[in-house]
Amino acid sequence: MILDRPFHLPDHLKEVTSFLVMDVMERANELEREGHKIIHLEIGEPDFPTPRKIVESGKKALSEGKTHYTHSLGIYPLREAIADWYRKKYHVTVYPDQIIVTMGTSPGLLLILSVLLNPGDEIILTNPGYACYANFIRYLKGIPVFVDVAEENGFQYRTADIQQKLSERTRAILINSPSNPTGHVLPSEEMVEISRLYVPIISDEIYHGLVYEGQEHSFLELSPDAFVLNGFSKLFAMTGWRLGYVIAPEEYVRPIQKLQQNFFISANAAAQAAGVTALTEPHAELEEMKQKYNERRKYLIKRLRAMGFGIAVEPTGAFYVFANAKTFTNESLKFSYELLENAHVAVAPGIDFGSNGEGYMRFSYANSLEAIEEGMDRLENYLQQRNPNG
Ligand code: PMP
Repeated sequence: MILDRPFHLPDHLKEVTSFLVMDVMERANELEREGHKIIHLEIGEPDFPTPRKIVESGKKALSEGKTHYTHSLGIYPLREAIADWYRKKYHVTVYPDQIIVTMGTSPGLLLILSVLLNPGDEIILTNPGYACYANFIRYLKGIPVFVDVAEENGFQYRTADIQQKLSERTRAILINSPSNPTGHVLPSEEMVEISRLYVPIISDEIYHGLVYEGQEHSFLELSPDAFVLNGFSKLFAMTGWRLGYVIAPEEYVRPIQKLQQNFFISANAAAQAAGVTALTEPHAELEEMKQKYNERRKYLIKRLRAMGFGIAVEPTGAFYVFANAKTFTNESLKFSYELLENAHVAVAPGIDFGSNGEGYMRFSYANSLEAIEEGMDRLENYLQQRNPNG
């Protein structure tokens, strides 16, 4: 018997969008199954293995029986190591009791937003910006309030633009520097100005450590009561370990902890042990990775510019170049599939990162220099013979 089941989704879920770059990647995988060699420049995931000592420490933890739940805030040695990391790197005082270890940065953001938002409350964020942010906010029945950022000034937030969007319902300003998708680092003068708005800050510092010119700053240097989000996925090439953390103002720790206990119980025990090793021991691989990213960054910028993509200000962090493709298209998603089908190069469409990202393409350099070279050759050949009208 076939039941005629009504299918209902809560209204606010209807606004949650899919992550288009995943759709592009899945089509790329189909083409690979058909035997085509695809160059992947769409994925925001380090191509390097996790440094050796970290892996060893995770394995050791498992064989020593660290296979159980941990304290819901995370194991104390890891919270101490995180506090120390912030003290040494940014000269800020963070107490282990302000830290909640999470299964990646993503659950950390969910926890922070959960303790900040009532339905209808607003979070300020950049357009373009990391695609998932707005969906987290919508999921919690909050309202993402976008501030357009422009290529000409390195996609930076401008305080005056933020000011115009502040309202009684503003709960926080979300900052992501170095940024996904633009690769830009927010200058410290801008950070100071933003801190003077006296609005709570959520600072996603997941790309810290991947800055190739100049120096990144933690928002805690300016606002000791900022919420900081960070994790091991990018700098330590540990995406699959699922390990991140929140640094929260003291009074928010207990409410966040309650949610963690209910939703997630604790972060993965062996991954936490590996996280201690990541933060407390030297890893020669990290410097090598950084050098390689930088080499690829310079190469990619040069090749893209030579082909006619616009890069007004060179990105100096993360592993992305957000290039202006308006000489080729005003429909980045269509262009993305066109490049994939014809040149077998996968690139993320700018529209994925917000309406103001339309006409741009995000190139990730989390792939080998050889692959990037091949990808650029393919693109160049394709674009030279391309007839945009079909
Ligand atoms: N924030 C930003 C800006 C990201 O780019 C990502 C990963 N793409 C995340 C958070 C989530 O990282 P994870 O959950 O792996 O820590």
